[in-house]
This record gives sequence, C-alpha cells and structure tokens, in this order.
Amino acid sequence: MRLAQRMSRLGTETAFEVLAKAKKLEKEGKEIIHLEIGEPDFNTPQNITEAAIEALKEGYTHYGPSAGLPELREVIARYVADTRKILVDPDEVVVTPGGKPIMFFSILALVDEGDEVIYPNPGFPIYESVIEFIGAKPVPIQLREENDFRLDIDELKKLVTSKTKMIIINSPQNPTGGILTLEDLKAIADVAISKNIYVLSDEIYSRIIYEGKPHSIASLPDMKERTIILDGFSKTYAMTGWRIGYGVMNKSLAPHIARLMTNSNSCTASFTQRAAIEAITGDQSEVDKMVKEFKRRRDVIVKGLCDFPKLSCSSPKGAFYVFPNVKKIGWDTKKLADALLNEAGVAVLSGTAFGKFGEGYLRLSYANSVENINKGLERIRKFLAKI
Ligand code: PLP
Repeated sequence: MRLAQRMSRLGTETAFEVLAKAKKLEKEGKEIIHLEIGEPDFNTPQNITEAAIEALKEGYTHYGPSAGLPELREVIARYVADTRKILVDPDEVVVTPGGKPIMFFSILALVDEGDEVIYPNPGFPIYESVIEFIGAKPVPIQLREENDFRLDIDELKKLVTSKTKMIIINSPQNPTGGILTLEDLKAIADVAISKNIYVLSDEIYSRIIYEGKPHSIASLPDMKERTIILDGFSKTYAMTGWRIGYGVMNKSLAPHIARLMTNSNSCTASFTQRAAIEAITGDQSEVDKMVKEFKRRRDVIVKGLCDFPKLSCSSPKGAFYVFPNVKKIGWDTKKLADALLNEAGVAVLSGTAFGKFGEGYLRLSYANSVENINKGLERIRKFLAKI
C-alpha cells in the first residue's frame, strides 16, 4: 500500500490500542481490570435514551443541517451562555459527532502549514497528531506536577512567536485532572489578545469538577471572538458511544466549520441531537450523582496509590483520571504499563501516551467501580512487591 505522505504524520490515541490488547487478553481467558479507558462506566440516563427512542419513532432518521438542528443549537447557545456568562447566538454553535471533530476542524480551518500551535504536554494526544498532520509545527508546553499540572505563563510567553496561530488549553485536563485558575486564564488571554492568537478551549470535562468552579477563557473580556469552546455530551451524560459534541465560536468561523462537516460527515445523527436536547434541558440529578461517585472513587484511588512506597499521586481537581508519579520505580514508563497489563492484569496507560513530558507517570482512569479500583490497586501492590 502506497499511503499518502501525510499519513506518516498522523498519530493515534493509545487508549484505544491498550483497550484492544486488554480485550484480546480477556478473550484468552485472563481477567483484566480496566483503568485505561476515558469513558464513564455509567449508563446514559434513562430520560435521554427515551428521548432518542421517541425521536426515532417520530422520524428523526434523515439528514439534517450540517451545523446541527436549529432547536439543538438554540438549547446549546442558552446553556453555554448560562454556564460561561456570555452572550451566545445559535449561529455561533456547530454540532458535531463528538467533541473531537471540533479539534480537527478548527485546526484545519485556522492553521496553515508552517504555523505554530502551542498545546499542553502531557495532554490529549489528538492535538499533537492533528497539528502534525496538517503540516503545522507542534509546540508543546510542559505541564509540571510541582505546578499542579497548570501551564507556566512565563514559559508560554517564551514559546510564542510571530508564527503562533493557536493556543490549545484543556481544563479540567486529561490526563492530569489539573485545572487552570482564573488568574492563569487571564494571563493566557493577555498573551492571546496581544499577539492576535486563537484559543481552542477544550472544556469537555467542565461539569466533572470536584473543587472550585470551572472558568472559561471565553468569559474574559475580548476573548469570546477569538475562542473556540469545545464541549459535548460524552463525559457529562455518559454518552461516549452516541457521538455528539459541539463547538461555540465566532459567527464568521461557524459556517466554515459547518462546511467541513458537509465535506466529512454531512451532519450529526438527527435522533442523537434530539436526545441531546433532553440531556441539557431535562433532569440533571444523574449528572450530580455521577460526579459525586467519581469524587468518592478519586479519593479511594489517590489514597491507594499514595500508600505504595515508590509512588506519589496528587489529588486531581476534575475529570476522572489520576496521574501518579512512578519515577522512583526506575522503569521505562511504557514498559511498566505493558507489564502491568500482561503480568498483573491491570490496564493502565503510560504517561508518554500523552506526550514526551508524560515520561515517569501513568494515567489511570477511575471510571470504574470502587470494587474494581480496589482489585486493581491490590494487583499493582503485588506486582510492585515482586520487582
Ligand atoms: N477532549 C478531551 C480532553 C478528551 O479527553 C476527549 C475524550 O476522551 C475528547 C475531547 C473527545 O470527546 P468526544 O467523545 O466528545 O469526542
């Protein structure tokens, strides 16, 4: 197969690969504890599923507008306006199959070959992958444990050049669970405004937060027009497999993102969009319950990991991941993650799956029951005692 050159620049998301390996081991009869996948283990709340069934019966089985159903765009506009305390017009909303396409589309639409994009590292691997794919220069900014995995503003200023077109931020963050403070966002906004840079603000975990309030950079003065907010339903409403998310952006950018939708997916599934209206406007008590349960699990897993002599683990403020420091074990992190899967039957990700600055860390998802988390911890304990 003579693939196009650009395919050599396209990365991947290791979580899916580890999940496939873990499933293979399960098929061979091994019992695996899954702490690798970034998806809530809860069922989608019943009212949302019922809204989808109703929509199917009502005939929402056809193409819809590329930017999304007008009634959903209106509901999203109101929701984002309320939660971010900004004015949002439905014409500034584009609905996509998951939040992920907003990364791809906004980078495709705004960043030229040779431009530079600053992005968090360790961070969601698709940012780097897409930046490389389109021929731009990825400029990682290191998130350090000693800085609560927030980015360092002085470092950011040093990384900005005349070619910087976009800064990507993600708060609460995958993989560290770190959160950017209001002061951080103000400083990033100052840089973006003074150097005329766009900001892609990945807020997919904005509702999964345990301490403090989530802030959006789009709420700051003069930032809304240069920010693309990425959000969606996957994490908040346990709807990963439904594939629905959205971007909120400058009104003059939205038609171009919609055009990318026309060229790729045509539109997001219509009945899924109807269910998303129910997700936002319906009873939110299931979301509150899920977040409460995540917090309980976070406390269990952080305590368990901190009890291991060679590990340290800070308590994440949001999302559902922990990012323990395993440097004292002295192993290559990828090798350690592989050994934990193959020898201990615990699927975790190497920090390096999130970029080079993830070396020395593992990522564990606590989107699993307390019983399984405890089982996983016990297996890790036994494994570490042996090596
Ligand atoms: N952004 C971050 C930081 C994520 O971790 C994920 C999913 O893992 C996404 C975006 C994409 O979510 P979706 O399932 O809505 O495409």
